[in-house]
Amino acid sequence: MIISIRSQADSDERAQLMALLCRVMDMHQPITTTRVDGRDLIVLASGALDEQTCALVRQQSAVEHVLAVKTPYQLVSRAFKPEGSDIVVGAQTGGNPVTIGGERGAPVIIAGPCSVEGREQILAHAAAVKAAGAHILRGGAFKPRTSPYQFQGLGLEGLELLAEARAATGLPVITEVMEPGMVETVAQYADILQIGSRNMQNYPLLQAAGRNSQQRPILLKRGFAATIDEWLLAAEYVVAAGNPNVILCERGIRSFDTQTRNVLDLTCVPLLHELTHLPIIVDPSHATGRRELVPVMSRAAIAAGADGLILEAHPDPDSAVSDGRQTITIEQLQGIVRQASMIACIFQAMFCHNCTKDIR
Ligand code: PEP
Ligand code: MN
Repeated sequence: MIISIRSQADSDERAQLMALLCRVMDMHQPITTTRVDGRDLIVLASGALDEQTCALVRQQSAVEHVLAVKTPYQLVSRAFKPEGSDIVVGAQTGGNPVTIGGERGAPVIIAGPCSVEGREQILAHAAAVKAAGAHILRGGAFKPRTSPYQFQGLGLEGLELLAEARAATGLPVITEVMEPGMVETVAQYADILQIGSRNMQNYPLLQAAGRNSQQRPILLKRGFAATIDEWLLAAEYVVAAGNPNVILCERGIRSFDTQTRNVLDLTCVPLLHELTHLPIIVDPSHATGRRELVPVMSRAAIAAGADGLILEAHPDPDSAVSDGRQTITIEQLQGIVRQASMIACIFQAMFCHNCTKDIR
C-alpha cells in the first residue's frame, strides 16, 4: 500500500496522518516514508489496512492518493510504476553516460575481467573491451571468494585503478561492495555498485546501498537460492532506503546438475518485466561457468528481453586470476556485442514498426 503525500501538505497535516496511521496500525509494523521522483510516499505492507481504514486515510488532507499494491514488494512493482525505469549510468563521474532499461533499443553490454589484477592489466582490458564495443567496464576490487585461500581482490587500490581506467577510456565502471561500511567509499569511485549473489539478502548492506551510495545505480544480483519474490523484496529494501536506481541481474541459480556452474533462469526475464519496472540484465558467465556456452546464452538472454548483459572477458582468459574457465576472449565479446544489437533490432522490427514503444 502506497500513500502519496500532497506536495503542499503542511507539517500539521502530515503529523495528523502519521498519528492516524500509528493509531490504526499494529505497532510492530514499521511505517516507511521515502521520497521517490520528488514525491513523499508512505509505504506499508500489502493489506496492512482494512478497507474502512483505507477510506479514512484517503480523507486525510495530507493525502493525494492511496494505491493498493497486492504484491509484498511495493515500490519496485509495475503497479506502482507502469512504465519501465531507465537508469542513467556514468553521468555523475565524468564517464560516457549510458542508459539501462526503459525504452532504449540496443542492449547495454558490461564487460571486463572478474577481478582487477593490476594497473597495466586493467588499463589494457578497459581499452580492449571498449574497442570490442562494450559500454561499461566491470572488475572486482573486493572479491567474495568461496575459499579464504583464494585471491581476495586488490581492495582500495583496485578502486583507484578502476577510476583510472574510466578516465582513460570514458567507460563507466562497476564493482562489487560487500560491507555496509564500505558503500560510501565504493560510491566515490564506481558508477554502479554491485551487490553479489552471496549478499542479496544482506539487509544492512541493502539499506546502506539505499542510504549511502549517493544514489549510484545498484546492480543487485539474484541470490543463487533466491525466489523471485525474495529478490524483488531485496530490491525493495534498497529503494525504500532512498535509492530508486536498482538494476536486477540474473546470474544463475543452484540446481542438482554439475555440468554447468549454475542454471540460467531465463524465464525470469519476461516474468520480471511483468512484475517490476526495474531493468533486468543477465550474467551468462557466472550462470554457465563455461566460456563456450556464454555466446549462445547471451543471444538467448537478449531474445528473452534482457536490457543488457554482464560478461567476464579477458584478452587471455586462461591466465585470469579468478573465474578464467567462464571468461570469454575479446573476439568472443566483439561477436556478442554485434549479435546482441542485431537481435534487439530484429525484435524492434518484429514487434514495433514505426513506433518507439517498448519492444516487449
Ligand atoms: C562476480 O560478478 O564476479 C561475482 C562474484 O558474481 P556473483 O555474485 O554472481 O557470484
Ligand atoms: Mn567472477
